[in-house]
Order: sequence, then structure tokens, then C-alpha cells
Amino acid sequence: MAQNTTAQHSTAQGAAAPSPAEPSPATAGAEPVLTVRDLQVSYQTDDGPVPAVTGVSLDLAAGETYAIVGESGSGKSTVALALLALAPIVGGEVRLAGRDLAGLSRHELRRLRGREIAMIFQEPMTSLNPVLTLGYQLIETIRLHQPLDRAAARGRAIEMLEKVGISDPARRLAQYPHELSGGMRQRVMIAMALSCNPRVLVADEPTTALDVTVQAQILSLLDDLRAEFGTGVVLITHDIGVVAETADRIGVMYAGQLIEEAPTADLFASPMHPYTRGLLASVPRVDLPPAGGPLAALHGTPPKPGKAPPGCPFRPRCGEAMDVCSTMPPLTRQGLRSVRCWLHDR
Ligand code: SF4
Repeated sequence: MAQNTTAQHSTAQGAAAPSPAEPSPATAGAEPVLTVRDLQVSYQTDDGPVPAVTGVSLDLAAGETYAIVGESGSGKSTVALALLALAPIVGGEVRLAGRDLAGLSRHELRRLRGREIAMIFQEPMTSLNPVLTLGYQLIETIRLHQPLDRAAARGRAIEMLEKVGISDPARRLAQYPHELSGGMRQRVMIAMALSCNPRVLVADEPTTALDVTVQAQILSLLDDLRAEFGTGVVLITHDIGVVAETADRIGVMYAGQLIEEAPTADLFASPMHPYTRGLLASVPRVDLPPAGGPLAALHGTPPKPGKAPPGCPFRPRCGEAMDVCSTMPPLTRQGLRSVRCWLHDR
């Protein structure tokens, strides 16, 4: 976890609820490497536009890990794609190192991806080309973004494979993806993503396809590389337990909105939103065995994109719903935290 958790809320305790378009926690003392303001993403379908993300704002500092958690369909992967301008952004803005992605040409965006911002996905086998050697794929990626000749790019590829803990890297360059285990393939993807030293790494469920032991190794590796390279990491996951040791801050998404955001320790110690409390209660903990009873479960299912009820989208599943919840709660700032729930409105 980064020691310098500089990307924090600057709003004073008890500040009035801002509109979603206002800046989310500013990075104290330094320009954030990534800023998202009032992001709106909508997919065109046969039934018309379907909003997948509405009003998401966040900041990411260099060397910080920001985790976005939520159930399937909450919009977290759509946010991840939007950070690389790979999703249909219909409102708001994404700024990477001060540059608004909406103002860039396709050519500029292609150059940006890989060099300034990179992404790793859940299943590396679908990202690696099965008929090309690892060496070819790594070296071509490096040469696409850096002015290196083939020998120098090969040296960089070997160096990166060493950094991600792959033994005998020179020999591995001649191997094909199917010759490696799932964990090793994900290490290769991380090596490829970081080979051009991007400012931001977006990791979309990078450990979901791996067993628990390898999952811990990959998360630890990501954390080490973040510290070494100063890369800002956006970690997307449906499993809030996975990010406890890794993330500096956590944003919880529900029905396309960021409904709670807090430093990791604060969120685990005192979750504010009923949905976050439900998510945490459903995580198995070795220090808190269920006293002979079943593990708590979140009942119901999240609304389909564009089908949320009026007001708070969590209302049908919330045990604390009130009459006022039939209108949309504002995002309320409280010190370093923010939450979208009428229970915490001032
Ligand atoms: Fe529950 Fe109301 Fe808060 Fe929504 S706004 S989470 S329905 S208490």
C-alpha cells in the first residue's frame, strides 16, 4: 500500500453536499495523475441509449492504488474502459496528466494507450495471442511505444520478465502462452503493461481467474511494482476482501454510481452506506467466525443498467429505507470520505 496517500478529500468535515460534477477528493499538494469528473457513459442498444455510468468523479495520485468495487453490472468495468476512452463517454471528462481524452485524435489515443495508461484483464489468455511467442509480443509492444532497436527491446523484455518474477526469462521469450500457467501468463501481461512505464495501470479483475495463492502473489507483485515505478493503479474487483491489503482508497459502485468512497482502513472500520456494510458482512473472515450461523448475504439483485427505481437505486434491497429514499440522495462529503445515502445527509 502506498505510504503517501495524497489523493484525499480536501473538503472540510461536514461540508455541504456537492453536485456530482464537482471535483471529488483533490490530491493534496500534487497534481493528480488521473482525474475523472462527472463521467457519464451510455451504450446504444436496439431499445435506445442505456446509461451504464452516471456522475462518477475521482482522483488518482501517482503511486496510489484506488480500488473500485461492486457487484457485476455496477458499472465498474465500464469506468475502467472509459479511462482508456474505450467506452462511449457521453458526458463529463477524463483527464490523464492534464490532457482531456475527449480532445485527442484516434492516433493520439493509440499512442497514449500503453505509453501513458495501460490495462490488464481478468483472463490473460484472451489478451495474449496464442500463435505468437511471448518474446514477439513483448518486444513488439515495447518497440511500438519506445524508440528502441530490437536488441534493446529484447533486453527490456527480459528485464521486465525478471521484475515480475519469471525465472529464466531469456528462454521464456521463445515460449508460447499455452506453455505457461495462468499465474505466469498474468505476470507476463503485467510485464507487458508496465514495460513502457505508464503513469496509470488499470487492472480489471486481474486475479479472478486465478487460485487464491496465486491471487495473493499477483496482488503483492502489483503492489511492489507500483511502489518501484510510482505507477497509479486503478484496481477493479467484485471482491472487497481482495483489496484490503492493497488499496489506499476504495470507491464502491452501485447501479452506475459511486455510492461511497473512503480510505481503505476507514471503509473497513466503519462502512457508512448500507450496501457497503452488506458487502463487508458477506466477506468470510478468519478472525470473526460466524457463530454457527450462515455467512451474511446481500439479498436481491442489483438493477439492470437503466432500470433502477426512482430515487436511491439501492432502495429495494435496503433494510433502512425511508420515505425520503424515493428521491435521489446527494453525494455528501465528510472529511476524507463521501457517501450517497440519506442516512448521512446533513
Ligand atoms: Fe437505504 Fe435510503 Fe440510504 Fe438508499 S438512501 S441506502 S434506501 S437508507
